[in-house]
Amino acid sequence: MEKLSNPQVTIDMIKKYNFAFQKRFGQNFLIDEHVIHKIIRAAEITKEDCVLEIGPGIGTMTQYLAEAAGHVCAVEIDKNLIPVLNETLADYSNVTIINDDILKTDINRIVREYNGGRPIKVVANLPYYITTPIIMGLFESHVPLLSVTVMVQKEVADRMQVGPGTKDYGALSLAVQYYAKPYIAANVPPNCFIPRPNVGSAVIRLTRYQEPPVKVQDERLMFKLIRASFNQRRKTLQNGIANSNELSFRKEQVADALEKMNLSASVRGESLSLAEFAALSDILSSK
Ligand code: SAM
Repeated sequence: MEKLSNPQVTIDMIKKYNFAFQKRFGQNFLIDEHVIHKIIRAAEITKEDCVLEIGPGIGTMTQYLAEAAGHVCAVEIDKNLIPVLNETLADYSNVTIINDDILKTDINRIVREYNGGRPIKVVANLPYYITTPIIMGLFESHVPLLSVTVMVQKEVADRMQVGPGTKDYGALSLAVQYYAKPYIAANVPPNCFIPRPNVGSAVIRLTRYQEPPVKVQDERLMFKLIRASFNQRRKTLQNGIANSNELSFRKEQVADALEKMNLSASVRGESLSLAEFAALSDILSSK
């Protein structure tokens, strides 16, 4: 069968199944073979790899993943796409289609069942409305992972790789950089999708660290501190932490800790590096 990356093949398939795009599922299908090659190259997929694809759509990238990888598990929420996938992927015996919500899927079970518990690679053109929960869920649940190579909104890709002192720096930057090394592999314009999204997109590869780049005694506390600082971005770090519902530190305790770190009492979260959040967390966890 001719590949779905040919726009006419995609249009014919959509017509054949009378498929109606669902905005609420973030459905923008790729129609550019070059972009798919770039994603697969950035992910360095080989026949040794078991790939988890999130949201295969009608199977456009899945066709290429199936040719490059050992096995592909594709998790798609929209039940209307399952008969389409059964047809477009019929030629590939190494693809498992799973009709489920990725945020509710037991990914550890998939890793055990299809890759004997060895680390997998995640590759996806993500539904943009749930980019952050998907990525945070993958890292925080400690699924055995080598890398996550995903198409995301351009602005979100930028946010993942910036450091302190820039306007895009936030909780997502810190979380991504604690778990993985980010690298933007390509920028992708709206005309590479049907329908066209109204934002620019980028492919980002997040390579999982074996060991995080900073050591912290209590990872959960550090992320609560990070969330508290950026929830109230315009407030000082002291106020942000003292006002947090997730934490019970007094303002004076935070002031003491900042003094120990030689930081000003009026410092804001957006100027602290990951290493400084780890140090702050270690000082506060002893209180
Ligand atoms: N991979 C296809 C492509 O590149 O042409 C489709 C990408 S489209 C941006 C996102 C896909 O994710 C859609 O097929 C959508 O139905 C699916 N999706 C949305 N929310 C999902 C969820 N919670 N779990 C699994 N799939 C989801």
